[in-house]
Amino acid sequence: MIPRLFIFLCCLLTSCLVFGLPENLPVPGGIAIVEIEDAGAKVIYRNSRVMTLREQEQSFAIVGIPLSADPGTHKLKVGNRTREFVVQPKRYREQHLTIKNDRQVNPYQQDLERIANERAEMDEVFTSFDVNVATFTEFQLPVDGPISSPFGLKRFLNEQPRSPHSGLDIAVDEGVAIKATAPGIVAVTGNYFFNGNTVLVDHGQGLISMYCHMSRIDVALGNKVDSDDILGAVGQTGRVTGPHLHWSVSLNNVRVDPNLFLGSRDSD
Ligand SMILES: [Zn+2]
Repeated sequence: MIPRLFIFLCCLLTSCLVFGLPENLPVPGGIAIVEIEDAGAKVIYRNSRVMTLREQEQSFAIVGIPLSADPGTHKLKVGNRTREFVVQPKRYREQHLTIKNDRQVNPYQQDLERIANERAEMDEVFTSFDVNVATFTEFQLPVDGPISSPFGLKRFLNEQPRSPHSGLDIAVDEGVAIKATAPGIVAVTGNYFFNGNTVLVDHGQGLISMYCHMSRIDVALGNKVDSDDILGAVGQTGRVTGPHLHWSVSLNNVRVDPNLFLGSRDSD
């Protein structure tokens, strides 16, 4: 058993990166790392199964917190017990974007069925929980470049309020190779109304990375990928204002800040 003080000191020294775990940032859009007695316990948060990991003889639940969550006390089911953790408030900035193709802001009636089908296809992956896929939580950036839109921005498209930005945008030229952020299994490839050419990679226990607006896709459904394997190339397909990679990370069906998986190497 490692004393709490030691973990606290580690947090101070490594900006809250505890060993190989993602960063503990219990805010809307963040992650709560909750110590539990047994990593084998079934942990549930908001009806979704939660990742558990064992590090240095301790067990932790790794809980994705939705951007829509209210600050305050949240409950976690751990086996047949209830654990509580506190979500702190966080304010995200606003972003106002102009999309030239108004159909991508106000889709036509005929687009809505396609959009609903695509959402269902993605939700099936986001809600999946595969214990047979090895879990990897230490990520690298899929491309090197400036962040043009951070995670969590409150978005207004053509001055209409829309869902907050659920990933981060990296501005790089069309054609730049996109690497897998960590080892995993390709869970979706396709062309989508908003996201354009898209790949989803399953990193185990409900941790999914998503790559959007690609110019081309170089992997197929079910492919096993290693970090550094090339998934395809940056593009500007779907709803975009220019070429970039939109990179999202989903944990227990919640889109969380991808920076929390980058460790101290890239999070500054
Ligand atoms: Zn984006």
